[in-house]
Amino acid sequence: MGYRAMPLQCCCGEEPEQVLEIGFTSDGNLIIHYWCSACQRVMFTSLSPAECHDYCPRQDGYSEMASEDDLLFLQALGISTS
Ligand SMILES: [Zn+2]
Repeated sequence: MGYRAMPLQCCCGEEPEQVLEIGFTSDGNLIIHYWCSACQRVMFTSLSPAECHDYCPRQDGYSEMASEDDLLFLQALGISTS
């Protein structure tokens, strides 16, 4: 099973340094709660199930190596990549 890292960008254009929390709403939307050091604010991104599906890799045979950005993203989520 492959995966594709979701690009996460604040409305100011900066990539958040820290993902604080990930959750789901009662109607199935994905919520990502992060800190933007440029804005000095806690920000939220909300994605519907359809939007999440759009980020999914198209094939199970996805075999590209994760880029450094992908690895940093996973580490920001607290997922070990070693
Ligand atoms: Zn920002």
